[in-house]
Amino acid sequence: MNINAPIAQRLQEISLNIVRALKTAQRDDQILLVAVSKTQTPKAIREAFSAGQTVFGENYLQEALSKQQELTDLKLDWHFIGPIQSNKTSAIAENFSWVHGVDRFKIAQRLSTGRPDHLPTLNICIQINVSDEASKSGVRLQDALALAIEIKQLPHLKLRGLMTIPAPVTDKMIQHTQFKALKDCYVNLNNHGLMLDTLSMGMSDDYLIAIAEGATIVRVGSAIFGARN
Ligand SMILES: *Cc1c(COP(=O)(O)O)cnc(C)c1O
Repeated sequence: MNINAPIAQRLQEISLNIVRALKTAQRDDQILLVAVSKTQTPKAIREAFSAGQTVFGENYLQEALSKQQELTDLKLDWHFIGPIQSNKTSAIAENFSWVHGVDRFKIAQRLSTGRPDHLPTLNICIQINVSDEASKSGVRLQDALALAIEIKQLPHLKLRGLMTIPAPVTDKMIQHTQFKALKDCYVNLNNHGLMLDTLSMGMSDDYLIAIAEGATIVRVGSAIFGARN
């Protein structure tokens, strides 16, 4: 990856990599690339938009809202991918089309209540902790089904799937294993009738491995925009 390449060129490279990874995995479905624009400027987002990228992911509400304000002339689709504080749920429900990091029913309930009637249902991914570290957010694999069944009932939400941020490791085998754990959980939930269609997994360093294991959404930041400060 040439870190000096302009955003358009990096986006093109990533798209090609995605197509190749799908082919290698003998998959004929598609990947949604979420461009993670946290800490990046509105100018950088405009540059990505000019290259055809319309879906962006943000982690911090205030930062996201201020960028959205500056970019109202563009037709963009915003995914909230950061940790969710309960006092921010209304603003998140009002200003995003997807929320990836839901790991508590109370948060899901507040997002549903906060979703305005005139907007389509808010797309939700349950965040799963596949690495079993006590400190990390996300529900444990064995608790995913119960939470999914509860969230599925909420009127203004559409439960789409599962999301994970695995523990950072360099061992590729472990990376595969972590993503496979999320895929297995997804298959299990669908066997229980949850009708999920989304696996949100894979970032700049591991999105190709995630695609090999079944990702349908990859969330890529620094490989598009360059290193964050
Ligand atoms: C920052 C972030 C990303 C993107 O990370 P990169 O390594 O820059 O691609 C993806 N998902 C989440 C939840 C993030 O916080």
